[in-house]
Amino acid sequence: MSFQDLDFKSNRAALARHQCIDPTSSGLRMKLLIKLLLVSTALILLGFGVSSWQPAAKGADSTRKSSRLHYSLELPELIDSIFSDSEDAQVLQAVDDSAWKIVTIKSGDTLASIFSSAGISATTTHQIAGLNEQTKTLRYIKPGQKIQLLTDNQGRLRRMKYVPDITKTLSVIRNEDQSFSSQILNFQLDAYPVFREGVIETSLFEAAAKGNISETIVMELANIFGWDIDFSLDIRRGDRFSVVYNELYKGGIKIRDGRILAAEFINNGKIYKAVYYTDPKGDADYFNENGKSMRKAFLRSPVKFARISSRFSNKRWHPVLSKWRSHKGVDYAAVRGTPVRASGDGKISFVGTKGSYGRAIFIQHGARYTTVYGHLNGYAQGLKRGKFVKQGQIIGYVGSSGLATGPHLHFEFRVNGVHRNPLTVRLPEAKPVHPSYLQHFKQNTRAYLSMLELMDTTLAENTH
Ligand SMILES: [Zn+2]
Repeated sequence: MSFQDLDFKSNRAALARHQCIDPTSSGLRMKLLIKLLLVSTALILLGFGVSSWQPAAKGADSTRKSSRLHYSLELPELIDSIFSDSEDAQVLQAVDDSAWKIVTIKSGDTLASIFSSAGISATTTHQIAGLNEQTKTLRYIKPGQKIQLLTDNQGRLRRMKYVPDITKTLSVIRNEDQSFSSQILNFQLDAYPVFREGVIETSLFEAAAKGNISETIVMELANIFGWDIDFSLDIRRGDRFSVVYNELYKGGIKIRDGRILAAEFINNGKIYKAVYYTDPKGDADYFNENGKSMRKAFLRSPVKFARISSRFSNKRWHPVLSKWRSHKGVDYAAVRGTPVRASGDGKISFVGTKGSYGRAIFIQHGARYTTVYGHLNGYAQGLKRGKFVKQGQIIGYVGSSGLATGPHLHFEFRVNGVHRNPLTVRLPEAKPVHPSYLQHFKQNTRAYLSMLELMDTTLAENTH
């Protein structure tokens, strides 16, 4: 199938999906039902249990069962998992559960007040509260959480358990020499890939909400495709997207969304695809299906949520100097202290005060490119000349040092020493998958990419 074919079909699919939303059309509803059946069959064939993409049908038991199916698949490594220490877990379970006193924390409770009501001595409270970094979490107990206490027949504390969040447990044990020791037990989160999709009618967020997709995933989706699609200007009615991502569960309860594994966005008829890939060296990023990076080597704007207050020009009125001079960069007005990010991977070539720039950072990116960040309020901790930084890493904070009327970032982009307009300069692409890993890339991303393709085909078939 040629690119144009795909393009055409997807457009029609998008249109048809639009109509499917009309609840009065039973014919179309039947088509939607057929589509759902086809897709679920396809998903099962791929090894994704229906329960994993249709959370309404999911109970604790079905989740457990489907998890066995998931892990028999040869899917990319699921990095979201947190691993448990099963040996420690067994030690805890060795104690008879009924002997534990369970205290539910109420508003205003402290460790001292809870221990005191349980008849535990103040000495023990001090010993545990000041034991180490782990037991410091007991200062931040919240109403509704539980503390479990196990005392001996003289009322002395033998053991305690506290669950600061559902992914871990703090356990404190009295040793034979009457001292205490603690440990944190981390529980494994089970990752289940889910498939979701949406068609844009008014906004991306609204479409996502209709498709039962969280804001976190939408933001991540916008980050992944943000290099190709301007989400504030380019979005059209009828644009559609599909996404495969992990949902992280513990004991059948969803804890949070994990990483996006693959996604497709059809914007104004053009298809963009992205897949997450970790190479054998452990470097991970999003690539298109051919292994090309989804990123450019540089961020156009090193500050998020900022307003452009002055553009690049060869001549402009300078408010401080009260005369005409060129402006060889872009100014971003933002609240003092707003984080400033490295535009690309590179090496810090200067940190310090430099004339009208005030507090400034210069980053050298390979031999050709330099980026400059001026009027800063301060620098990120530990930032110094010669240090390597990654794209998006926080390097400093917006301020008004040097020649500035108010807090803003002055950002420059230089190519071979020549100032270029950061908003319009053609940005080089970030590195693709290394040619020696292409085979590995294909093997490890096939499952998710074929899920996206399958959806395209199914949608197209149902619109005839
Ligand atoms: Zn400026």
